[in-house]
Amino acid sequence: MLLKSAESISGYSILKRLEKDLGKTASPTYIYDFINTLKSKGYVKDIKRSKSKRSRGFKLTLEGHKFVDKILQRFGNLIEVAIQSKLKICASCGVKLYENYYSETIEGKKLNFCCVHCAKAFKNHQH
Ligand SMILES: [Zn+2]
Repeated sequence: MLLKSAESISGYSILKRLEKDLGKTASPTYIYDFINTLKSKGYVKDIKRSKSKRSRGFKLTLEGHKFVDKILQRFGNLIEVAIQSKLKICASCGVKLYENYYSETIEGKKLNFCCVHCAKAFKNHQH
């Protein structure tokens, strides 16, 4: 993501950013191993940073950009799924329940409903 957001970035900058964003020190070995993996797949290439004291820098290749876009798409879907799985639905009418809903224990099972009327309808239907 860092490589995607910048024209180019040094290994040192990646480490610093991770430290800042995650609040913990990332292992340089891990970062460089990861970059080497990306390089071997043709997603990242070295760039010469002649003006910088730090000579090593990386940038995404065209393939790399496509790869990150794909990850973002997939990751976006995962987030959606995670949210969906946390949603409860009304046991009676199937409507999605958010923060305010009605719960009732029926025959030893805790069931969620959108409202008392739905719970009543559910019970009437059962008996
Ligand atoms: Zn309902």
